[in-house]
Parts: sequence; structure tokens; C-alpha cells
Amino acid sequence: MRIVTVIGARPQFIKAAAGSRQIRKEHQEILIHTGQHFDDNMSAVFFREMEIPEPDYNLGISGGSHAQMTAKMLVGIEEILVKEKPDALLVYGDTNSTIAAALAAVKLQIPVFHVEAGNRLGTLNNPEEVNRITTDHLATLDFCATEDSLEKLQREGLGDRSYCVGNIMYDSFLHFVNLPWKYQNIIDFDGNAITVPSEYYYLTCHRQENTYSDEPLTEILAAMNSLDAPTIYAVHPRNRERACRVCEKEKFKNIILTQPVGYSDSVHLTKNAKKIVTDSGGLQCEAFYAGVQCIFVLDYVVWPETMVGNRNQLAKANRYDILNKLSATQIIDPSYKPFGDGHAAERICKIITEWERKNK
Ligand code: UDP
Repeated sequence: MRIVTVIGARPQFIKAAAGSRQIRKEHQEILIHTGQHFDDNMSAVFFREMEIPEPDYNLGISGGSHAQMTAKMLVGIEEILVKEKPDALLVYGDTNSTIAAALAAVKLQIPVFHVEAGNRLGTLNNPEEVNRITTDHLATLDFCATEDSLEKLQREGLGDRSYCVGNIMYDSFLHFVNLPWKYQNIIDFDGNAITVPSEYYYLTCHRQENTYSDEPLTEILAAMNSLDAPTIYAVHPRNRERACRVCEKEKFKNIILTQPVGYSDSVHLTKNAKKIVTDSGGLQCEAFYAGVQCIFVLDYVVWPETMVGNRNQLAKANRYDILNKLSATQIIDPSYKPFGDGHAAERICKIITEWERKNK
């Protein structure tokens, strides 16, 4: 088949690294980068390091409101789909690139395959929730990372098109976590290399809910600053100005601010951290894979499978709540593996090939 894959944001590059490697063994893939993330350390570094093929198209669309971004992508992707006439479209996750691509394809009667389907936070206040629900319902094949996501789609009447394949991010994680590694590219905002301390906490925090004003971020950073080891905070570009200003104003000396790091650096920072505090859906799963305790600062559960034995706990953006949760001890049951076995991409490819055979 000729499959157009659309990606645009950091977590999608990580998923596509595993996906493209497998898809290209059996199919012809045409890759579109929408341009949603464009800095070298948010985009190109992942293509280089994870050996993701060069995109065939880069739409260069970033910034603006959700509607502006989605609308521009819809137009740009439709033009390419009309020209390329693919047999199917493949999308990952829940970003504006995902929904724009799915919508463009379905109106052209191109079947949509959605990887990481069925996640539900239970609130439309989360902008990605709209993208998730809509894409799942537009798709011809929905690939779920967990049984829980599959059950959610079954409840929404999508059971006949949905498959539990495991988490494709786990494929990438296992591949990179087992490579010998020396930190490569952890640098501060003046461009100086940072030496990773022997003991540290790892923080990422960029969601609108935690960064729309100084207050929630100040609370999160105040908690981290009071800990018994420094915190490495890999700052998302969206958040850079606020993070630097808050640290300076509050004199948070126990926090090391860095530019976004590459995937291998992130995986190894995760593996070796004392604990992790994040509002990232992907990082909380990686913490779980690595057996490192995680605090998830948001009002909603993203991956319910991780919320066992204090392995991942929700916290408010409040210093006392975060510190309280960090003081708990986690209990790990090594036989509990809700995200599959790291072969999600192979399963996805197999199901696509079977689908093609039946629908030829
Ligand atoms: N990540 C990374 N560099 C960083 C911070 C995070 O490579 O500086 C990785 C992290 O390991 C995880 C993914 O990016 O795999 C999460 O992406 P992000 O937080 O942008 O998206 P979300 O998980 O919230 O969808």
C-alpha cells in the first residue's frame, strides 16, 4: 500500500520512529511533517538520532490559535492527499496534526489508521481530548496501547475496528534504553553543557493547565527546589521565558534549567532519576517502564494503568501536595505489564496487511 503518515510534534516523532521502521518493510510510506514543532531540539534531533526517514513534505505550520493551526494543516494536507492518492493515512496520538490529517483524509474517502487510540481523560476542557475522540471515530482502524483504551472504544461502539497492540512508545523506549549511552546534548540556555549530577530529579512541565500563568509553575518549582537533590528541568520552548523568569525571581538554586533534550538523553535521564515529576503523557509511561516513581501534575488521569502501587500519582500544582506525593513509597509488581511487550509496531503492521487483503 501507499500510506501517507502525518506527524508534527515531538511525541509523534518518537512513535513514528518505531512505526516507520516497520511500515517501510512492507509498504511505501510518504511522510508529511506539519511543522508544529520545528526547533532543532524539538524536531530535527529526533529524526537524526532515531533514524526517522526525511519527511517528503514539510508544511511549516506552527503557532496561532488551535483553529488557525488546524485549518492551515487541513488545507495543506488535503492538497498532498489529492496529489499522492494514497491507499491509507496513518496518524499518531492526539495533536492538531492528528485531527487535521484524519479530517482531510476521511472527506477524500481515504481510510484512516489511528495509533494510540482510545485514551480518554473524560473532559473536553483538555484540548487534545477533542482530537482524540474525533480521530478515533473517523478512523477505519484504531490501534490501542492498552486493554483499558480498547474497552473505552468498545463502550463507544467502535469495538469492531479497534485492536489492542501495546504502546508503540514502549517499542522506542526499549530500543533506546538498552543502548550504551553517554549524555550528549544537555545544555543550558547560554549554550553551556550541563554535567548531570549523580542524584537528581527529572522534571518536564509544559501543559497549558500548568503554564498559563506564573502561579502553578511557581508552586511546582518551589516543591522541586526544596528536595534533597537537584532537579533537571528540560524546558519546552513554549515555556522558556516563564520558567527562566520564575526561577530567577524566586531564587530557585536547586533547579537546573536545560533546553529540550534529545530522546536518548531523555530516556537515560528518566532511567537514572530518583523520581520524576511531569505533566507529560509520554514521560509518565517511560517512568513506569523504567520503574522510576512519577508524580503527574494534572487534574486528570491520562494512563490509568500506571496509577498502581504509588508508581504514578496525581498531584495538584501545589507544593505541599507534590511533596506529600513524592514522599510515598512505590510498590512494583514485575509481572504487571499493561503496555505490551515492545512489539506494537509489528502488530500494527500485521493488522494493516490483513485489512488490506480483506479490502482489496
Ligand atoms: N522528551 C524528550 N526531550 C525533552 C522532554 C521530553 O525527548 O526534553 C520526550 C519524553 O521522553 C517523552 C516525550 O518527549 O518520550 C514526551 O513528549 P511531550 O512531553 O512533548 O508530549 P506528551 O507526552 O505530553 O504528549
